[in-house]
Amino acid sequence: MNNFSGVNPSAGSRMDTSISGKRKMSDESGRCRVLIVEDDETIALNCVTFLEQRGHSVDVAYDGSAAIARLSSATFDVIVLDLGLPRVDGTQVLDQLRRQLGVAAAVLVLTARDELGTKLDCFSLGADDYLVKPFALAELEARVTALHRRASGAVVTDVVFAGSLRLDRRTRSVSVGEVPVRLAPRPMRILEHLLRDPGRVVPRSELESVLWPDVERDSDVLRSQVHLLRRALAEAGYAGLETVHGFGYRLRTD
Ligand code: CA
Repeated sequence: MNNFSGVNPSAGSRMDTSISGKRKMSDESGRCRVLIVEDDETIALNCVTFLEQRGHSVDVAYDGSAAIARLSSATFDVIVLDLGLPRVDGTQVLDQLRRQLGVAAAVLVLTARDELGTKLDCFSLGADDYLVKPFALAELEARVTALHRRASGAVVTDVVFAGSLRLDRRTRSVSVGEVPVRLAPRPMRILEHLLRDPGRVVPRSELESVLWPDVERDSDVLRSQVHLLRRALAEAGYAGLETVHGFGYRLRTD
């Protein structure tokens, strides 16, 4: 990780080249309106690029005053707020947006390590979560999505199905009908991701970024992990893990 930019550069550049802007999340799976408040242009633009590629709509403010102005005229689901801002700093912005503007959006605070002492202040001012720099873009996106999901009251069910295939997220146990399926960590991760939205065709590039957020992998590596998953499921009686040629994978739900 790059300790100077505050953003994991390998994840950022990899996403720039390997995932097309065509991949959009559906609203049900967490697309949200995000305001990035960050004075470091490189970090801000990396965040924007990554989040937009994941289907979110993103706006940027480079200082506290611009953030307040933006929040006065538009509505966001999640605000990603850097604490170290010129002029009006992040804690002042937070205080103002909660107390004066009555903004209800979830706030994810970005802190440098030496600002961790202010973490508790941030929570008392109304922050919902924090992330310490340097951070991986994939983690930022996961936290943004989780905050949005929580705020929008979407029910996260523990048990999900695709036809006879069943996953209990709480215990991470998989079965086909009554037959338990044992999976190695990577095939398990693939299955969990596919089951976030059963029936959706998930692009290979998306699975790769879930499995290996920080490094570029040969597509054969993913293929072999999917092969292991497909074989384990088939042995238990589920033959619905389909390859959509030239695109990705999907779980049949019938
Ligand atoms: Ca800063």
